Amino acid sequence: MDFEVVVIGGGPGGYVAAIRAAQLGFKTAVIEKEKMGGVCLNWGCIPTKALLQSAHLLEEMKKAQEFGISAQGIQVEFGKVIERSRKVADQMAKGVDFLMKKNKIEVVFGTASFIEENKVLVSSGDSKKEITADRFIIATGARSRPLPGLAFDQNLVLSSREAMVEKSAPKKIGVIGAGAIGVEFADFYASMGSEVVIIEYLDHLLPNEDEEISQVLEKSFLKRKIEYKLGMSVYATEKKENSVVLKIKNKNNVSETSEIEVDKVLVGIGLVPNTEDLNLEKFGVVLSKGFIDVNERYATKCKSIYAIGDCTGNPLLAHVASMEGIKAAEAIAIELKKSSELKYHPINYDLIPGCTYCHPEVASFGLTEKKAIALGFDVKVGKFPFTASGRAQAIGDTNGMVKIVTNAKHGEILGAHIIGPSATEIIAELVLASSNELSVHEIIQTIHAHPTISEGVLEATSAVLGEAINI
Ligand code: FAD
Repeated sequence: MDFEVVVIGGGPGGYVAAIRAAQLGFKTAVIEKEKMGGVCLNWGCIPTKALLQSAHLLEEMKKAQEFGISAQGIQVEFGKVIERSRKVADQMAKGVDFLMKKNKIEVVFGTASFIEENKVLVSSGDSKKEITADRFIIATGARSRPLPGLAFDQNLVLSSREAMVEKSAPKKIGVIGAGAIGVEFADFYASMGSEVVIIEYLDHLLPNEDEEISQVLEKSFLKRKIEYKLGMSVYATEKKENSVVLKIKNKNNVSETSEIEVDKVLVGIGLVPNTEDLNLEKFGVVLSKGFIDVNERYATKCKSIYAIGDCTGNPLLAHVASMEGIKAAEAIAIELKKSSELKYHPINYDLIPGCTYCHPEVASFGLTEKKAIALGFDVKVGKFPFTASGRAQAIGDTNGMVKIVTNAKHGEILGAHIIGPSATEIIAELVLASSNELSVHEIIQTIHAHPTISEGVLEATSAVLGEAINI
């Protein structure tokens, strides 16, 4: 065999799997058809956060007077905003190239397709190369799903990839889908001066979040004049030379219809897995709607093939892909008896944080209050509004709250939901606590530095027991 482990796809699932495999002593290679770093570093997590940072800085500058600072003539140079985001993404992708060298992982550029259980053909232009390995880890990710009848055209109808390299901010943009991607782009383009209208089939922005959290975001977007139409679906579209007409209807009352004409449309309604090039079914790998079926150790039905990350389905998040990469490499090490000390600890999918980097930020894990009640738990909730946080007042960012959903019986945390400053950072404490089966009783014994946003976690947890001090 050429290698012991070959990873197909160099995104946050694939490159992390390769590094862990190399750490475990495997002769490892990665096959990547585009650029190391995958969607996350090149077209997803990182460039969008860079764009949102420009938006956030602008919003902060608009408030400068409140802080005793006068700033005049603030201008957006949209091209430079995009340029910075691309620079950040490139820098991160180069960092992955360095990590491959550091860990002595061979990188082969091209598109991989299985020709035998232990052999892939890698094609790049006219060049073709066969590579054999004891085990393959597929980490080929996913791409934006188009709206039926409205194909992406890289001009008027955009996927997230095109929306992050636009030449100028559109006058009016329609965002279809109010999940994390839709909401983040709505936030960004609204700050850049676009008129934004979001269309969402479900009843809230970020419909998977706790209802109360979504409502805070909805109020905040309303204040910023970001329009949203909830419970509405796009039933037809009409493309004109320089605009698109979206015909929408109310899901509860189909006779209630209206039309919105926009200069650009961003479609953020989900993802399609990149699995069709791989020739997997021939080797017994089972696919469900294109996503690869795996067991708890990321093994497929074909002995030599494992799969991780977005190409295996929900939750489609970079940190999940990375952890699955680590677990798959470890599972292979255990299977091939590379390490006698390794113990396999499966991922607990109930404890995965999900974050949206709009303003205010949203972060959560576990059950919403509604779901916990529906599942029959004796639910006790603790909340802390950031208006009562000294640090939030000092930084002038008090919109939001920490909400903790617990099982009244033992104080077990069932879910945590945060909207507000540093939400995406402070969620980690609650995930760590829950991963280690700490209850509210242990958290309230933990001294949190003052003044910090994380005191909100302490206060909300104390509120569960009726012991909050500052509210
Ligand atoms: P990918 O990152 O998609 O990487 C797959 C790689 O495989 C690609 O480089 C591709 O070129 C390569 N490939 C595909 N087919 C082949 C083949 N046949 N041969 C060789 N190579 C192949 N997640 C978060 O956790 N936080 C965020 O803030 C966040 N923001 C996002 C914002 C946007 C706009 C988008 C689109 C996504 C965002 N995500 C975010 C999701 C995150 O990017 C993905 O969950 C993550 O990239 C999945 O990693 P992966 O390794 O499974 O696949």
